[in-house]
Amino acid sequence: MKNMQLYRLVYYSEATPELGLDDVARIAEKSSRNNRRRCLTGSLLYCEGKFLQTLEGGIRQINDLYRKIMIDPRHINVSLIEFSPIQKRAFETWDMSLVFFPSSQEFLEEYVKYSHVTEFDPMYLSGGACTDLLKELLQKRRHVTHLADLQRKSG
Ligand code: FAD
Repeated sequence: MKNMQLYRLVYYSEATPELGLDDVARIAEKSSRNNRRRCLTGSLLYCEGKFLQTLEGGIRQINDLYRKIMIDPRHINVSLIEFSPIQKRAFETWDMSLVFFPSSQEFLEEYVKYSHVTEFDPMYLSGGACTDLLKELLQKRRHVTHLADLQRKSG
């Protein structure tokens, strides 16, 4: 694993209308466990029915997971933003931290620093900009680690 070429995959998707916050928290918890086993790192953003995820790791591990993600019935319109080799990971822990914003208003204040478009549409961002945005949000401790945190944040 030490000399393995690392890759980064960034995609965007939309939650199905029936997906609740509990489901989102369950996806994040399960992902965290699974990704640790596969040496995959990254971050998953959820804001008002929209997902943005960065995955980092080996090419085989990323491909295997992305195939599953694409056919997961809990979201639609899975759109690839970037898949490219990287020198080092942006997210160091074996984790899938969930960055959660209860309202898009709050999120857009952070988002516009990275985009010239004021509506949340990651298709206008590069994979690198998406990754930097997610990293900044994690550093500002916008992530939740437990379902209870998610419920508290959603008020
Ligand atoms: P299980 O979790 O046991 O799932 C088996 C099957 O059941 C899968 O096909 C799964 O899609 C389906 N399934 C499970 N729960 C439900 C449900 N509540 N409703 C409908 N179908 C369900 N997985 C990761 O491992 N890492 C990630 O980083 C990751 N990110 C994700 C991001 C998003 C936005 C979404 C929607 C899903 C993500 N997943 C992630 C889940 C992924 O799509 C697969 O479900 C998961 O990897 C399968 O895990 P498993 O093999 O342990 O099987």
